[in-house]
Amino acid sequence: MKFIVLVGDGMADYPIQELGGLTPLQAADTPNMDFIAKHGRNGVARTVPDSMAPGSDVANLSIMGYDPVKYYSGRGPLEAGSIGVTLEKDDIAFRCNLITEKDGILADYSAGHISSDEARILIETVDRELGTSCKFHAGVSYRHLLVMKECEKSVCTPPHDVVGQSIEDVLPRGENSKILIDLIRASKPILENNEINRKRRKNGKNVANLIWPWGQGRAPNMPVFREMFGISGSIISAVDLLKGIGKYAGLNIINVPGATGYLDTNFSGKADYALRSLEERDFILVHVEAPDEAGHMGNLEAKMKAIEDFDKKVVGGMLNELGGFGDYRILILPDHPTPISVRTHTREPVPFAIYSSTESADYVERFDESAAKEGVFGLVEGHCLLRMMIK
Ligand SMILES: [Zn+2]
Repeated sequence: MKFIVLVGDGMADYPIQELGGLTPLQAADTPNMDFIAKHGRNGVARTVPDSMAPGSDVANLSIMGYDPVKYYSGRGPLEAGSIGVTLEKDDIAFRCNLITEKDGILADYSAGHISSDEARILIETVDRELGTSCKFHAGVSYRHLLVMKECEKSVCTPPHDVVGQSIEDVLPRGENSKILIDLIRASKPILENNEINRKRRKNGKNVANLIWPWGQGRAPNMPVFREMFGISGSIISAVDLLKGIGKYAGLNIINVPGATGYLDTNFSGKADYALRSLEERDFILVHVEAPDEAGHMGNLEAKMKAIEDFDKKVVGGMLNELGGFGDYRILILPDHPTPISVRTHTREPVPFAIYSSTESADYVERFDESAAKEGVFGLVEGHCLLRMMIK
């Protein structure tokens, strides 16, 4: 038996006036997801525990079968997993952004989405100068890693939440925070005058003139996927955090050429690589970020297109070939809603559908937020879904 999970990030939404009161999932042309809902069993899943923020990391940890309340330990450790840094037991890992400070204001949490090549030089320079009792590791674009032994309990602020605010007002607080504040301040002269930033300034780009550590935690103590479910598997995602989760779960991480995490991602490539992986392993999770990006932009047309591309090229691309693998079960769902009207993640339970080549269907006819509520599964905890499917 093969097990397939296809995640359309942020697909779920609210009814939209422009669509005559339908949601994008209801209005979009999605014959493949509708097939799975009609011939499968449906329900809604709570992927974000009440006590936690609706991040894609938390929601996808649930989808992979891990209770986030038990296993989520912050962005930093996931960042470490994704860039292949192994954490010691007493290591505290911080996500470390390169940001833009302008006249004392936190102007850009991403330093103009700086390229990985430029960022690597800057982070290596910072590490040479400041990495005496801590270590900086270069990651992707503005997203890097700081590992140290202190400041586990310091209160740090995600920089994307405080764009436009005074740096002084949003510096780390609480236990040992002076260590972090000193690092942040010391990074300024090192970065400001670096050749990379001089060029960026000249070209009218945002400079990466400050480091910003946040999201710290220790390595999560997770059982690996094979231990939990008795099968091995792979994950396909363009998003670092998901690769990080996959790493801790002991899944095989597949990088698909042209997978961008954006609207122009290589949808068909994801299905092709997923099918190839199933020749060797029994489980595959394919994550597509595009609908979420469209949701954050508040772009309805782009969201509909992303959902239709996901349906046609990923879901359809898989369904067309899965018969060749014998019996299988396939689960489709968003990780959380990213409604067009609010342009950010929300925490409502998400619709899901499971088609099994060996089991009968319930009475749901199509895949969307309200139809799923009538499904035979009712409301389930997100981290119990996989166990239900694989059982
Ligand atoms: Zn997400």
